[in-house]
Amino acid sequence: MKVHIVHLYPKEMNIYGDTGNRLVLAQRLKWRGYEPVIHLVGLGDELPKETDIILGGGGQDSGQALIIEDLAKRKTELKAIANDGATMLMICGMYQLFGHYFLTQNGQKLPGISVFDLITRGSNKRLIGNIISQTPFGELVGYENHSGLTELSKDLQPLGQCPNGQGNNGLDKKEGATVQNVFGSYLHGPILSKNPHFADELIRRAIERRTGHKQQLTPLNDDLELAAANIARSRPR
Ligand code: GLN
Repeated sequence: MKVHIVHLYPKEMNIYGDTGNRLVLAQRLKWRGYEPVIHLVGLGDELPKETDIILGGGGQDSGQALIIEDLAKRKTELKAIANDGATMLMICGMYQLFGHYFLTQNGQKLPGISVFDLITRGSNKRLIGNIISQTPFGELVGYENHSGLTELSKDLQPLGQCPNGQGNNGLDKKEGATVQNVFGSYLHGPILSKNPHFADELIRRAIERRTGHKQQLTPLNDDLELAAANIARSRPR
């Protein structure tokens, strides 16, 4: 079975190795006998007709400014795909732009596409370091580095809670956001390489949507991935 993975803006929005998320999903699908089909969608490229998983990565404020015009043109289409239950994972800079807007430190307002009911404001401090987040899908280990502070609306579910990390804004101990099958997070790492259970959560949701059946994924040997997570866990910054 083919599983279509769309990577949005792989050139402009890919700091701290977020492309690794695409590689992890593709490899875990292959190991289980699925056929991942990768679509790299840059400025001006059309989205493919079939879409199971959409990924977006982090970027500098300048990278975000480069893509907002193109992203705005896709707003209706991306929101429709999200409403239709596609699985999406947006990290850091793309997470911010899946909210209503990102007001940079320089006062530039970068409009987002409002998939998430949240806003982000640039600050003069940087939230940086390894971070652990407790989520309904288990613990997630990652690395955050952002100066944008994100505020969720009161009805928007965070992806997790991070009692010892900075997360969305350093104040409310919330990390990321989730609505339907769309996930946003500040965790780089890339997030899926150190958190195979979360990679499988995304894969399971995507396959369930495509097949219309509950799925039990074949277990894989995750020793190396979990060892990497343990090292990150032991090095708080
Ligand atoms: N430029 C944004 C910020 O600093 C996003 C950074 C990132 O994607 N790591 O908040």
